[in-house]
Amino acid sequence: MDYRAFIAKYAEIGVKGNNRNQFEDALVRQLRIVLKEVDGTFTVTKTRGRIYVEAEGPFDYDDAVAAMRRVFGVSAICPMCQYPVEDVDSMVAHVVDYMKDVYAGQKISFKVETRRANKKFAINSQEINALLGEKILEACPNTRVDVHQPDVLLRIEIREKLNIYSSEIPGPGGMPVGTNGKAMLLLSGGIDSPVAAYMVAKRGVKIDAVYFHAPPYTSERAKQKVVDLAKIISRYTGPIPLRVVNFTDVQMEIYQKCPHDQLTIIMRRYMMRIAEHFALEHDCLGLVTGESIGQVASQTMQSMLVTNEVCTLPVYRPCVGLDKQEIVEKSQEIGTFETSILPYEDCCTIFVAKHPVTKPTLKSILKSEAKLDEHMEELVRTAVETAELIWVE
Ligand code: ATP
Ligand code: MG
Repeated sequence: MDYRAFIAKYAEIGVKGNNRNQFEDALVRQLRIVLKEVDGTFTVTKTRGRIYVEAEGPFDYDDAVAAMRRVFGVSAICPMCQYPVEDVDSMVAHVVDYMKDVYAGQKISFKVETRRANKKFAINSQEINALLGEKILEACPNTRVDVHQPDVLLRIEIREKLNIYSSEIPGPGGMPVGTNGKAMLLLSGGIDSPVAAYMVAKRGVKIDAVYFHAPPYTSERAKQKVVDLAKIISRYTGPIPLRVVNFTDVQMEIYQKCPHDQLTIIMRRYMMRIAEHFALEHDCLGLVTGESIGQVASQTMQSMLVTNEVCTLPVYRPCVGLDKQEIVEKSQEIGTFETSILPYEDCCTIFVAKHPVTKPTLKSILKSEAKLDEHMEELVRTAVETAELIWVE
């Protein structure tokens, strides 16, 4: 079928009054961003509570659909045929051709639903429904009309153009990115944090990211892997400012001065402090990590309590209740898995103790951190000041 346009539908629940405008504008903006990558020229418009995507000239249909399916807030996409509004006969011909083409020979029941915003036609919507029903039955002998539970709900709109559509491709749901503030993601090269980013972004949150890099212990390729992951996430979220912090000196200082079984926890506390610094500087309303309860020593309830203690912002951990396998499945679905499992070293694993504490107490950690003096403050300041900003899109 020669589809020319789409309706991007969204769930209307909770989208009322002023929110609605903001929601629709963000949806239009995100649709434009994802469609930039697709072959073809598109215009995205909002008219009377509807969002239309129209192609000017030839375009890659499959890519366009895939791109729109990455836009949070879209509940469904309806591919649509469009023709100029001429006379009744030409409308009937287009609709009959559409049915013949899309449901060729299929045994289906259908119902026609017409909306006539453009009163150019002498006959009203009811009359159009009846006329089209009759003509379709004549042209497609396998079909029958069922006004209660039709297999196919054929929608005809007579607006500036004649719109014909009858199918819905499910979208991801959620809320458009940017309608719910911004958060700072701690993005590592692992499986979990990209999934966490996806889940928070799906609720309308814009994502900024920070990655802690420890050269020469972690290589350029490990850093590139994180950039690549951010790039995949940005297909859903739009451009991501990624801050790469050189964490080596901070990590070495902890390694030299603190008990090794507490390294991961203390390191995580410094990551949180630095992430929060950037978050506050850039108007983020929370932090996001890929932690899940009990996954590793640094993610027991006790460890997370101790880690959290350095933060004033809320820390969102959307993977918290998921098993590893569930996180893996989600990462496969969103397309980050293959990159996440590339074998480049992680800054945490290099200094990691054989037997890290699983139930640290805040008291013991504070005691160890007390050994870190002004020198550490300076190292943290330098790490913040020398962070490299990469715009990933
Ligand atoms: P992931 O698969 O997300 O790396 P993980 O199971 O390897 O998670 P940890 O290494 O304990 O878990 O990290 C827990 C969380 O801390 C990560 O999900 C991420 O949000 C953050 N984190 C860990 N290392 C880094 C890093 N080098 N840079 C930025 N954030 C990090
Ligand atoms: Mg990790």
